[in-house]
Amino acid sequence: MSSATPQSLPPLRHETTAGNYFVANYPPFAFWKAEFVPQFEAALSASTPRLSPPLGQYVHIPFCRKRCHFCYFKVYTDKDSSEVRGYIDALLKELAVYASKPVIGGRKPKFVYFGGGTPSYLSPDQLKLLTDGMKRLLPWDEVEEVTFEAEPGTLTDHKLQAIRDMGVTRLSLGVEHFDDHILEINGRAHRSKEVARAYAFAREISFPQINIDLIAGMVEETDEKWRETVAKAVALQPDSVTIYQMEVPYNTGIYQQMKASGKLVAPVADWETKRAWVDYAYREFENVGYTVTSGTTVVRDPVKVKFIYREGLFTGADILSIGVASFGHLNGVHYQNHHEFQPYVDAVNAGKLPVYRALTPPADECYIREFMLQLKLGSVSAEKFKAKFGNDPRETFAASLSTLKQWGFLTDNGDRIGITREGLLQIDRLLQEFFKPEHKTGRYA
Ligand code: SF4
Repeated sequence: MSSATPQSLPPLRHETTAGNYFVANYPPFAFWKAEFVPQFEAALSASTPRLSPPLGQYVHIPFCRKRCHFCYFKVYTDKDSSEVRGYIDALLKELAVYASKPVIGGRKPKFVYFGGGTPSYLSPDQLKLLTDGMKRLLPWDEVEEVTFEAEPGTLTDHKLQAIRDMGVTRLSLGVEHFDDHILEINGRAHRSKEVARAYAFAREISFPQINIDLIAGMVEETDEKWRETVAKAVALQPDSVTIYQMEVPYNTGIYQQMKASGKLVAPVADWETKRAWVDYAYREFENVGYTVTSGTTVVRDPVKVKFIYREGLFTGADILSIGVASFGHLNGVHYQNHHEFQPYVDAVNAGKLPVYRALTPPADECYIREFMLQLKLGSVSAEKFKAKFGNDPRETFAASLSTLKQWGFLTDNGDRIGITREGLLQIDRLLQEFFKPEHKTGRYA
């Protein structure tokens, strides 16, 4: 549609209310169902992959020292070392099942991502056991990037060296903020002193890439504290910085407190303030030569600093995902594992795949997914899309692009369909414009 009627701006929710804001996949997870799991099993048994996209691996480590009040992941803070050991055994058994499937046989991963939870919760010995086992099953000799998420307070020099030695190329530090009071009141386990120590040693032993994560809008955030945090982040000169805007999904401690006290609005800054804080951070980093490369990232040197996992995820790579609650995509099918610890471990130990829901998106939904995810990077090449899918997104999404243009968020640059800075700061809510009607949630943050 090319709309003649000007569209009004999407309704704004100024306050931060409960619910998810960040768009991580498409179609939304609510459409992945247990009844589609047989489709996933059939896709694994196919003698050759339907397409031959790059293969990546995701490993979920669901343990943390304590649960942050804003956390919405499935994490466990009470597992002892024998349970952790049992979990590592389960991960390797799960991977062995995949390695024996025709669709994986012979393929080697191009990238590996350890996420959580807290991968750095594991001891050096546990990490070695896990990664040696993984490499035996699917060798890493063609791996170009290994990302590892770490909570600064868990990182001794010895552990950092072990992480470096196992082949990690991209260390991602969950800093979130540099103010100890903000860290404490939001339930983080680490303090700023631990960030400084871990960062210094990680630099000393030459990780090829260090990313730090920050969150704009944590409980009790102020203009002054945010400016101080940004200044400290700039001073560290990380290779990249990922900045999230605080959201308050239903399964967070913050939402539980809101519910108990009958509050509808979360005790954090409104969305306009959070965008302004991210914008401030972007400008401070740009002033010292960084480049904004997505709605959440700045990098010091975009020629050298790549993020192959994200590139794979956004361009339809196969992602062999293992671990409790993890999400993956293999041979045309999305899948998610059991989201409770024991059912996951029990299923693997019984020789079954621990998958509890799946979805086979039709071609048009794969197209929407890739377009939307790539738009999060700020611009998309229409010609590349046409070459890959056979359709020009300028035609396929004419109506949605026209709406974004009327709102002033679109930069039209021939081949490149681009988003303005203002649009990029609120990209996740704008992506709903590309959803099929049956997938829209109507939530605009
Ligand atoms: S460290 Fe990360 S995964 Fe663990 S509780 Fe905090 S936010 Fe959640």
